[in-house]
Amino acid sequence: MANMILDKINKVYPNGVHAVHDFSIDIRDGEFIAFVGPSGCGKSTTLRMIAGLEEISGGDLLLEGKRINDLAPKDRDVAMVFQSYALYPHMTVYHNMAFSLMLRREDPDVIHEKVLEAARILSLEEYLNRKPRELSGGQRQRVALGRAIVRNPKIFLMDEPLSNLDAKLRVQMRSELIKLHKRMNATTVYVTHDQVEAMTMASRIVVMSMGYVQQIGTPKEVYDYPDNMFVAGFIGAPPMNFLKGRADNGTFIVGSTRLAIPGDKYTLLADKGYAGKELVLGVRPEDIHVEGEVMDRHKGAKVSIVVEVAELLGKNVIVYSSIEGKQILADLSTKHEIEMESTIDICLDMDRVHFFDDSTTERIR
Ligand code: ADP
Repeated sequence: MANMILDKINKVYPNGVHAVHDFSIDIRDGEFIAFVGPSGCGKSTTLRMIAGLEEISGGDLLLEGKRINDLAPKDRDVAMVFQSYALYPHMTVYHNMAFSLMLRREDPDVIHEKVLEAARILSLEEYLNRKPRELSGGQRQRVALGRAIVRNPKIFLMDEPLSNLDAKLRVQMRSELIKLHKRMNATTVYVTHDQVEAMTMASRIVVMSMGYVQQIGTPKEVYDYPDNMFVAGFIGAPPMNFLKGRADNGTFIVGSTRLAIPGDKYTLLADKGYAGKELVLGVRPEDIHVEGEVMDRHKGAKVSIVVEVAELLGKNVIVYSSIEGKQILADLSTKHEIEMESTIDICLDMDRVHFFDDSTTERIR
C-alpha cells in the first residue's frame, strides 16, 4: 500500500466548468479518506482524476513520490469500485474476480490463489460458482470489491459503492467495509454524499463544496471544530442551529433574547474585534438542554420557547421551535414528556457553541 499526494489539483471541463479548485491533500499509507459534500461539489471528478479516467487540468498527482498525472489508468496501480457494480452477468463469481488477472496473462496458479484469498476475505467462498443474478445486492457488491482486491492495487478508489443498496444492507456493508479496511489496511479514497457514511468509516474526511475543499480533518475534528458555517451545517444530523446576533459586554444579543457568553469565549471575540459587531452563533441540537448540570452552569443562557413539534426518538426527543423567529432544533435527552404547544425553558451549553464571522462565515478562533 502507498501514500498519495494531491498538490493543487484543478479540473476545468472543456465546457468551461471549473469543477475542482486547488485540491491538496497528503494521503498517508493505510488511511481511509472520505470525500464528502453535496451533489455537484467535485467529489467524483477528483476521484476520477486520481483513477486516470479524467484528465488533470492543473497541479500534481504523486503516488509514492512519483508524478502520475499522465499515466494511463491501467498503469496507475489503483483499483476503482463503482456504485453500479457492473459485474459480467454470464461469468461466475470466480471468473468475475479472475478476469482482469487473466487479461494481464498472470500465471493461472497465482490467479487461483488470489481469487481464493479475496473470496476468503469477503466471505464469498461458497458463492464462487454462482452467477451474479443468483446473488443478493450485498453479495454482488462484495464481488465488485473482490475484483479490486485481486489486483492488489496500491490505492482503492470507491465512488458511492453502497448507494444502490437498501438502507439496512447499506448499514451492514458499511461495517463490513470498515472491518475489511482494518484487516487489509489498504489506502482507500471513498466518495459519498452521505455524511454519516463519511463520519463512521473514514480516518479523515475532506468536506467539499462547489469545487473547493472546505476542511480536512478526522471525523471528530470536523464535527467539534468546523472551520466554517458550511462544514458546521453539513456535518451532523439534525444540523447545527445558527442564530444571527451581536456580542456586547459578555452577552450575545438576538432581538430581546440575551445569552451570557463564558468569559474566555467573550475575550476571544473582543480580542478579534467582534465586540459590538454582527456575528453568527452556532449551537448543535444536542448542546441544548432542559435539565441537568448544563442548566445550572449556564443560568444566563436560558430561553423560553414554544414547542412547535416534538418527535420522540425513543431515548431522545427532537423539538422544533424558534428563537426570535428563527427556527431551532433541540435534541433533548429527558425523562419528562414534552408536549406540543407547551412553553419550556431551554438552555444553550455556551461552552460548546461556536461563533462565526457573518461575512466570511469562518469560525472565529
Ligand atoms: P459530485 O461527484 O460531487 O456530485 P462531480 O464531480 O460529478 O460532483 O461534478 C462537479 C461539477 O462538474 C458539477 O458542476 C458537474 O455538473 C460538472 N461536471 C461533471 N462532469 C462533467 C463533464 N463531463 N463535463 C462538464 N461538466 C461536468
